[in-house]
Amino acid sequence: MSAQWIAPDEIAPGVFVATAQQYTTTTTIVAGPDGGCLLIDPAVTAADLAALAGWLSARGLRPVAGWSTHPHWDHLLWSAALGPAPRHATAPAAAVAAREMPGLLRAVGESAPGHDLTLFARVEPLAGGEIDWPGPRAVVCQHDAHAPGHGAVLLPEHGVLIAGDMLSDIEIPLPDLDAPDPVGGYRHGLELLAAAPGVTLVVPGHGHVGDQAEFRRRVGADRAYLDAIESGADTADPRLTDAAPTQEWLRAEHARHREHRRSR
Ligand SMILES: [Zn+2]
Repeated sequence: MSAQWIAPDEIAPGVFVATAQQYTTTTTIVAGPDGGCLLIDPAVTAADLAALAGWLSARGLRPVAGWSTHPHWDHLLWSAALGPAPRHATAPAAAVAAREMPGLLRAVGESAPGHDLTLFARVEPLAGGEIDWPGPRAVVCQHDAHAPGHGAVLLPEHGVLIAGDMLSDIEIPLPDLDAPDPVGGYRHGLELLAAAPGVTLVVPGHGHVGDQAEFRRRVGADRAYLDAIESGADTADPRLTDAAPTQEWLRAEHARHREHRRSR
């Protein structure tokens, strides 16, 4: 198994979160009946996906449904070894993935070469508000924070919120700067997640799983970050000040957020 891939942790009965070294990217696996599973955002290198497929088959699990939380390249990956499960994203996210395919393919080639690109971003638009599969209910929370049609997944029976690229302990909020109102749109998405009922565990797309108190803390930290961007105030957000040198790109994103606000 790849040394760069941390084998899944069972965070709730039948809910597993694996972590890839690259960008501390999470993959969520939800076990359903008869060995079928829902696979959310499998990532990130070709070796990570091979390790994931090996882990699944060793446990007798086989993907029967795939979900991409949003149309960024590191959330649209798949491999032949994961099988032919139908894969979905929200309708706007699927449309963006199709429209921006050339740029997304370029990004995968540069950042995680070696994937089977014929399987990349092959997501169908979801009809309805829940993922259609035979396992535990998987309710989609759709909004436009971070990316168009971002679809977080709430597992109400487990109290687990798979937040996509939101509510991270290591990344500041990253609004979609191409949106008409990046900060307002982000706030809307954040409040939608904050209002999700019964959340006892939060799984960010990049970072670490948090409990109920940590979920609330992250909501507060993200609100405070957005407030600082809107008011132009300085922020002592530890995700910026304590960030490792490898997270230098976050400080660059923060500068872009401030610049974007000033230029309005
Ligand atoms: Zn993203």
